[in-house]
Amino acid sequence: MSKILGHFINNADVNDDNRPTPVYNPATGELTKHVAMASKATVEDAIAAAEAAFPAWRDTPPAKRARIMFRFKQLLEENADEIAAAITDEHGKVFDDAMGEFGRGVEVVDYACGIPELLKGEYSRNVGPGIDSWSDFQPLGVVAGITPFNFPAMVPMWMYPMAIACGNTFVLKPSEKDPTAPMIVARLLAEAGLPEGVFNLVNGDKEAVDTLLNDERVQAVSFVGSTPIAEYIYSTGTANGKRVQALGGAKNHAVVMPDADVDNAVNALMGAAFGSCGERCMAISVAVCVGDETADTVVAKLKAEIADLKVGPGTDVSNHMGPLITGEHYEKVKGYVDLGVEEGADLVADGRGLKISSHEDGFFLGPCLFDNVTADMRIYQEEIFGPVLCVVRAESEEQAMQIIDDHEYGNGTCIFTRDGEAARYFADNIKVGMVGINVPLPVPVAYHSFGGWKRSLFGDLYAYGPDSVRFYTRRKTITQRWPSGGVREKAQFSFPGRQ
Ligand code: NAD
Repeated sequence: MSKILGHFINNADVNDDNRPTPVYNPATGELTKHVAMASKATVEDAIAAAEAAFPAWRDTPPAKRARIMFRFKQLLEENADEIAAAITDEHGKVFDDAMGEFGRGVEVVDYACGIPELLKGEYSRNVGPGIDSWSDFQPLGVVAGITPFNFPAMVPMWMYPMAIACGNTFVLKPSEKDPTAPMIVARLLAEAGLPEGVFNLVNGDKEAVDTLLNDERVQAVSFVGSTPIAEYIYSTGTANGKRVQALGGAKNHAVVMPDADVDNAVNALMGAAFGSCGERCMAISVAVCVGDETADTVVAKLKAEIADLKVGPGTDVSNHMGPLITGEHYEKVKGYVDLGVEEGADLVADGRGLKISSHEDGFFLGPCLFDNVTADMRIYQEEIFGPVLCVVRAESEEQAMQIIDDHEYGNGTCIFTRDGEAARYFADNIKVGMVGINVPLPVPVAYHSFGGWKRSLFGDLYAYGPDSVRFYTRRKTITQRWPSGGVREKAQFSFPGRQ
């Protein structure tokens, strides 16, 4: 049997051959390694390690925690090529795209380096005679992160740098489909000087996740993945008294207004729909064109651009798009293309049947474009998570916005227009968490926070940025008086009134 990837607990590799699960190179279809699925006992070991490390880590000065983050950031940058190559090998995305993902993850580490400033708290002097009051933001304890396959480096970095910098200890359960990049990063955290047990990684599936959700030592859970699992994580975790943020799936719409710079909009749509083979939670999967003339022009230009789109292995950076993650996911996405044809949408570009020379067993599906998609079709309603762009025709901005608001997901959206008033109205009123104006992938930078509305997020706080300080800490408000001059307080039986 090929090599089995285990876990990382207490800054050490843990070998394990429990339920080995195959990992593929999606560009060749080759089985490259196996990853162990942690048993309940192994996950409990990781939780115990994190719990044991918490008291000392909680009391480590934030400036010292920040110094470890600085060293970690430096190590990440020195190892960027190796990490991005591992992403390309197991996820399939083009190497430059993997570097882009990695860079956006490192941004969160940059933000975490500022933790002494972020944890300064709030202070009020003289809230009453001789009384001062302040709020502290204290870490929670052991927190867990459960992450999807599509950003194996970046999405875990949305969680643990801030959780750790805030003084918590962490157990990460990354995706079993592309486990190597998170493992490389785990070893770098140890090399950066993070004490044993502060960060632990367990590979696994539902058994590992359920152990994290049910163990009372775990105080909070951050999840990113599909909506059915996000909802399960949220309902189970909160029923067990944990703080939970669970980011789910998406169907992101781009509105193209009649006055838009159409060439710019089409270029933006190409990258946002087909980059990373459409396997991004912020991918644009629906273009809502306002007016038939706009739609006809957009579809014609998209068709021409698709003809020039280069699909192939992610190791060749001249390719625009790599393969899908697994053979199973390939079948699912192809099944949606078949379904769209049955449902009566017009398949303008058909990526089925694409074969890449010398990569015949890779999970490659070419870009697909549907026109005249309507809201009653399943290809419109469901998240496909592949290189499939649907064009929906609307008569006005209001109708386009109603279509978006009626969709169950509300992760990201954007509008292409030259009209500032239309853009402002859109941004003010659309029921979606992240909005772009002539920006197709409005992924917030690390010092803002990331999250969707409706069934794209369960919980109250977004990922990374200022919300993450609130998510990974608990407020404590302290009110103090130091009686002076030997004055003794008299008993007061009425509630302390206004001062
Ligand atoms: P997934 O929901 O299948 O898996 C996510 C995680 O949950 C993995 O670690 C997996 O092992 C675990 N898991 C899977 N099934 C489980 C079960 N039955 N019980 C407990 N745990 C389980 O998602 P995926 O296919 O890895 O990733 C793609 C999905 O993630 C898409 O829906 C995409 O939109 C979403 N996503 C969302 C965001 C966001 O920010 N909203 C970001 C990235 C990806």
